[in-house]
Amino acid sequence: MSATLLVEDARKHFPSGDTVVRALDGVTVEARPGELIGIMGASGSGKSTMLLIAGLLEPPTDGAVYFRGECVSHPEADLDRLRDFRRRNIGFVFQKANLIPFLSALDNVALALQIDDVPVAQARDYAHELLVELGLGHRVDNRPARLSGGEQQRVAIARALANDPPLILADEPTAALDSVRSRQVMELFRTIADERQASVMVVTHDSRSIDLFDRVYEFSDGRILSENHSAAASTLVAR
Ligand code: ADP
Ligand code: MG
Repeated sequence: MSATLLVEDARKHFPSGDTVVRALDGVTVEARPGELIGIMGASGSGKSTMLLIAGLLEPPTDGAVYFRGECVSHPEADLDRLRDFRRRNIGFVFQKANLIPFLSALDNVALALQIDDVPVAQARDYAHELLVELGLGHRVDNRPARLSGGEQQRVAIARALANDPPLILADEPTAALDSVRSRQVMELFRTIADERQASVMVVTHDSRSIDLFDRVYEFSDGRILSENHSAAASTLVAR
């Protein structure tokens, strides 16, 4: 079976005065169904740039992105045309939950479905189901300000799951959380990969959760320094 996502030999170069910033300089990563993939590396090493390219939000300067074996992004691709494709196939989670402050947890999640033309009642039912699944059954009616950081992030994850996307991309989703909440969110991503057979790719600095990943790509200066399978990944922690 082909990978859900394959980013192949991607480059992203930004002109800067007389020089060029090589944010990505030939990076290949993939994620298969049921895999939880970690992306690690120092600040400025190209992690977010790679995720934007994988998420079809930015075209690569060179290289290509394949989704289930089909080329969907390349330097000449018109990504505006992929809005519906993105919504159906990719769930995004960022460092900040970015919930709509005047809507309840339930309506924040239901909205993602209504945008996709799901009728209101059905959208709210499914949103409720998702929040229960994520351990927020007692929080459905709360607005974001009444939720802890970890709870807000779980609502954001429920929202990302609403359309049942085969691919979830998360950029430092636990950076604002304490270590206990971080661990819970990372374990949630592991469960999502296992139970939904989704492909989940997470950028993180948190080496304490490395045991949960199937594979970790370590970025450095726009390249992949190493690709570790979970057994070997623990050596990263020691550095
Ligand atoms: P990371 O997420 O690993 O911290 P980024 O992918 O955000 O790294 O950035 C990689 C490099 O590319 C950095 O040097 C950054 O300054 C540069 N960069 C990222 N986006 C842009 C942009 N839009 N314009 C110019 N330079 C950028
Ligand atoms: Mg970043």
